[in-house]
Amino acid sequence: AIPLVVAISTAVSANNGLLIRNRTAFENSRNITTIIFDKTGTLTQGSHEVARVVSLNPAYTEQELLRLAAGVEQNSEHYISQGVLRKVETEGITIPASSDFHYLPGKGLEGTVEGKDVKVVGPNYIKEFNIQVPENDAEDGVETVVYIMIDQQVAGFITLKDQIRPESEEAIKILKENGIKNLLLTGDNERVAKSVSDKLGMDGYLANVLPHQKQEKVKELQQNGEFVAMTGDGVNDAPALAQADVGIAVGSGTDVAAETADIILVNSNPQDIASLILFGKATYRKMI
Ligand code: ADP
Ligand code: MG
Repeated sequence: AIPLVVAISTAVSANNGLLIRNRTAFENSRNITTIIFDKTGTLTQGSHEVARVVSLNPAYTEQELLRLAAGVEQNSEHYISQGVLRKVETEGITIPASSDFHYLPGKGLEGTVEGKDVKVVGPNYIKEFNIQVPENDAEDGVETVVYIMIDQQVAGFITLKDQIRPESEEAIKILKENGIKNLLLTGDNERVAKSVSDKLGMDGYLANVLPHQKQEKVKELQQNGEFVAMTGDGVNDAPALAQADVGIAVGSGTDVAAETADIILVNSNPQDIASLILFGKATYRKMI
């Protein structure tokens, strides 16, 4: 039989924006010592608005770069894709057809547009292949930067601005007050990661992280005796969500993340995570 106090707490959780998929993990949430947050769509809104389009090759205008980028981005539901497609629509650009589309997990995407190989990729890809790109202006410091590659050459880049969720600061504050460590893990660039981590007063961050590295970080913390919760919203976060002692998916995210997670944040509100842990502690205190 389910102890009454647990049954009640589960019902209360539903009212607090939590959907419990794994009761054991939910009950264990009171033991969490470290929470890892994915950035995009979890602590931030994922409202990615195109700020700048810069051509690095005189053969391509900025409009042309946007058009080719949209050709591949139309195949994806990622926040970056949505931002690029909104911009293209505003500019009245017709999106070209694409074929051979595929994801480069944690790095971006690739497809064929009008006979050209077009990639839209982040710093991870650029770093891995040792591709040189000019330093951006300081004003790009807190923006996500994606590079447009045409036939293996960097042709330009797009910067996108995202917003921190208004509830994130309070969520981090409550966690810290209760002695729970927090860490930001993101596939995005170093400066964006640092900016979000600093603004929210987080304990630390890791940038340019690939999906398997998110999972390895969870494992490393567990081996150091931490009881780890991980929050995420993307396909890329699934391995880390599965590895975590408590996997928490953001409700607005992908089905893959939701299917891997123990708990779903129905309203995508990070404050509900703080409530979850504090509520779990209070509930079990009552049982003893
Ligand atoms: P996060 O860890 O912040 O949730 P993701 O793992 O979703 O980020 O993406 C990591 C990085 O991969 C992005 O910052 C971007 O550089 C690149 N990327 C992912 N999806 C796309 C896309 N649709 N278009 C361009 N770049 C992308
Ligand atoms: Mg994500």
